[in-house]
Formats: sequence, structure tokens, C-alpha cells
Amino acid sequence: MTDLITPSTMQDFPLTIQHLFGHGRTVHADSRVVTYTGETIREATFAQVAERADRLAGALARLGIRPGDRVGTFLWNNQEHMEAYLAIPCMGAVLHTLNIRLFPEQLAYVINHGHDRVLLVDASIAPLLARVRDQLTTVEHIIVVGEGDTSGLGDILDYESLLAAESEGFDYPEINEREAAAMCFTSGTTGHPKGVAYSHRSIWLHSASTTSAQTIAINQGDRLLVIVPMFHVMAWGMPYAGWWTGADLIMPAQFLQAAPLADLIARTKPTFTGAVPTILNDILHNAADADLSSLREIVCGGSAVPRSLMVAFDQTFGVRVTQAWGMTETSPLAAIASVPRGTAPEDELDWRARTGRVLPGVEIRICDDAGAVLPWDGQAQGEIEIRGPWITASYYLDDAPEKFHDGWLRTGDVGSIEPNGFLQISDRAKDVIKSGGEWISSVDLENELMGHPAVREAAVVGVPDEKWDERPMACIVAAEGTDPDPAELRDYLAGRVAKWWLPERWTFVDEVPKTSVGKFDKKVLRARYAADELTVVEI
Ligand code: ADP
Repeated sequence: MTDLITPSTMQDFPLTIQHLFGHGRTVHADSRVVTYTGETIREATFAQVAERADRLAGALARLGIRPGDRVGTFLWNNQEHMEAYLAIPCMGAVLHTLNIRLFPEQLAYVINHGHDRVLLVDASIAPLLARVRDQLTTVEHIIVVGEGDTSGLGDILDYESLLAAESEGFDYPEINEREAAAMCFTSGTTGHPKGVAYSHRSIWLHSASTTSAQTIAINQGDRLLVIVPMFHVMAWGMPYAGWWTGADLIMPAQFLQAAPLADLIARTKPTFTGAVPTILNDILHNAADADLSSLREIVCGGSAVPRSLMVAFDQTFGVRVTQAWGMTETSPLAAIASVPRGTAPEDELDWRARTGRVLPGVEIRICDDAGAVLPWDGQAQGEIEIRGPWITASYYLDDAPEKFHDGWLRTGDVGSIEPNGFLQISDRAKDVIKSGGEWISSVDLENELMGHPAVREAAVVGVPDEKWDERPMACIVAAEGTDPDPAELRDYLAGRVAKWWLPERWTFVDEVPKTSVGKFDKKVLRARYAADELTVVEI
């Protein structure tokens, strides 16, 4: 009997980071990794960074790191972190990027759970690691980058000395594309951190996707300002995509406030960056005179991007902000709000303000509570499910069957999908407000409120209500020099959302509590409300 399937005649070329690494270091040997020190700027060519990455691989191998072993990084975005991004996966080990802002117990948990054998630590944040050093059960060596107070870490090794002791080159092993290259834990906005292990293949495909003009078009003409921490979903894919295409990589290290970012942008003239709305808001309010004209676009996501923020960036800086959607489990890019062709210029913002259009390469759907698939009609609301070659199929050593449905990842985000594949997130399932059995979108309310000139930040959470089970409560951070009145804000909303959505309860706070990656931490707000710690005005 003959085979029914005709075998392909193509090479079985492995999709590994080794290929990205080799391509960048040769084809783009002169491109640069630029690191900000707060005052000066240091630069190295891709050729130099690659040579140091080889030495790092040599040093780690000498310390006993073998394929499959985990090496943690506790670093800012800088050249050394890039060296780790290249060396560790290419030697077959797993790069475990550690969120430096985790609570101590969560930090110890992810290092132990990840079985990290070696840690690379930035000296400036060594004290944060020292707090948990005694609880670390798997760490054999700590390598320190830079100078600082390393007391409390026990025996340490110096990064530069280790590199200096190695000779040039490294004999990289053959790697199976399906093996883990990197690992990242979710930031735990709504629960305990869960480990996601990205394969070489998934990173390769995600990187290729980010170079497509259909998405964010990273290319050799770019200078990428990598604001998103390299410990947060691989800095949204920019380090690898930049390395592969020869875009310069500009690393802000720990200087992430508006003023130093404005200085760095003025001095290095990046063409592209990505950031969460909190960072953009900070720039808008604290560096409105910054010259951002070198930026062709800013991709913004991680939480809903208020329309008012996009308009303000257009008007203040003349820079286009494009909204994207994704999560740790989706590598992260899964949807981007690229305006559909044929849209009239005056309607463009309506599309840009939506969550995003599904990327080529991944598939989305929405399901109701019973798991039935709902139509793409822009109306039906359900939980977004997603699948594709850079979407998580399971968590690292964590079963979590409730997160999967027939091979699709359940995102925990609730929303609708237009017939053209544009999705609109109305809430996280855990933040959904159900009033009298009907959903109120906190995202919509926040978006509208943040359009009011006296509102700097607005977070809306559901609080218990005797009559309606739950009602929205608005937590407002007033814009500087203003003192908004709840009744005025309510009137403002009245013309913009359904009447029954209007919050009765209002509270004014100095700052909305944020998670380790700068998102509104609504569980903290709900807990403060329950503990009677907020002054609430009822109207
Ligand atoms: P965590 O889940 O710990 O916050 P992630 O960074 O993985 O960490 O967050 C992913 C979540 O962020 C998504 O599930 C979604 O709720 C939210 N999110 C990301 N982008 C957007 C967006 N453009 N609009 C609304 N929510 C978003």
C-alpha cells in the first residue's frame, strides 16, 4: 500500500534562538545595544555583545550548567541582560527572567519552583534578593553584575571576572526546537504566579510575527527603546526581534520615570517603543515638553489603553499610540489594533481605541459560561479563548485544568469579537461587575472617566450592593491642581454610558494601587473598601 500522505521535500530546519543569535551577530554585526546609566550612555556592537555572550555561556558551563538547567536573571534592561538572553537559551539552558518587583515570598517561590541553579543579579537590587537568600533551596551560584551592596547574598561571583576568564567562542549544542528556551511567571494580578515555559520554536515564530508589517514591523531601520521590563513577557518580544533584524536596542536600565526617559529619548532618538499605559501617562503628565518626534509609533497594552491617552499623545507629541493585547501566556502579542483598510480618517480612532485585531498565526473565539462558542457579531460577550504556536498549552509543573478548554487557552478576559476579528475586552472575568444579573464594563467606565480633564487615573471595581448584588464604585486620582466633584463626574459619564451603569459610590485616592507590572490592582481596592479604609461619597 502506498502512503496516502506525500512527504514534504523541505528541510527540517530547527526554529531555534541559535539561528536568531547567529544571524544578528553576523549580518548585523554593527548594530548596537545601548545602555543608559542615568547620566552616560554605553554602547556595544552586536558583534561585541555576541562575543561576550559566548564567554557567558562558557562561564555558566564551567559552573556546571547543562542543557535543560534553569538560570535566573534578576536584572534591569541592560546589555548584560541581553547577553543572558542570547547565551542561556543557545547553550540549551533555560533563561528564567525574574520579576524584581515580586513580594519576597513570591520571589522565593518562583526561584525554587523554577529550580534555578544559578542567578545573575544586578548589584543595585542585590538587597531585594538578599531578603530571600535563606529561602532559596536550589541556587548554587550567584553572579553579580556591577558594584553595590551584596551583603546578605553569601558567596558571590563577579560577572566581568567570569567573562574575562573565558576564551573566545563557545561550542553550542544542537537543540530541539520544542525544548524550553525561556521561562516567565505570570505577575499574579489575579492569583498565584504560574510558570510559562516558551519553546525555541514559539519564540522564533513570535519574533517573526513582530517583524511583520501587519503587526509592529520591527526592522533594521529601527532603534527600539525597550521600556517593558525584560522580566515581563520577554519585554514583549523586542530583544529577540531587534537582534534578529538588526534594530538597535536601547536599554533604559532602572531609569523608567518620565524625566530620565525623556532625556534618553532626546539623546538616543528611538523609532519605536512599547509600554503599559501607566508609563505613557507618567510621560504625558510629567514630561509634556519632551521631544518624542523620533518615534514612528508606540505600542501600548497590558491593560486597556484609554482613548483619551491616545488623543493626548497625538496632540501633545504627534506620536501614534497603537493598542495591543496579550498576556504572559501568549508570548505576548496576540492582537493589535491595526486600522482596517478603507476606514475613513475620522473613524480611525474608533478602531485604534479597541483592544485589537487577532494576529495572523493565532486563533481566537469567545465562549459562554457553559463553554458554547459564541458568534463574532460584536455583541455577544464571553470569555476569550485562544490557540496558536506561541500560545501556552499548559503551565510549568502546575496542572490548572480550569485554564484550558478543548486545547484552547482560557484567557480570563471577557469581551466580544467583530466579524473582522477585532476584539474588545470589557473586563477580566475576575473583575467583572454584575449588577442585577447584567454586566457593566469597568474598562468602558474607566476609559470614559479618564477622558475627563480633572481625572488623572480612574479604576472602577464592583462592590456588594443590597439591591443589585453588585454595583460599580469609581476610584479617582484627580489631575494635578484640580478637585473634581463626584456629581460633575457622574453628569459627565451620563452622556457617555448607559444610565444604569453610573456609579453611585465615589472615592478619591492619591494613587491607584498597582501590581508589580504597573497595572491597577483591583483586588487591593476591593479589600480596602471591604475593610472600610476608603472614604466613599454616595450620590
Ligand atoms: P497578569 O495576568 O499577571 O496581569 P499579564 O501581563 O500576562 O500578567 O496580563 C495579561 C492581561 O492583561 C490580559 O489577560 C488582560 O486582562 C490584560 N490586558 C493586556 N492587554 C490589554 C488590553 N489592550 N486591553 C485590556 N486588557 C489588556
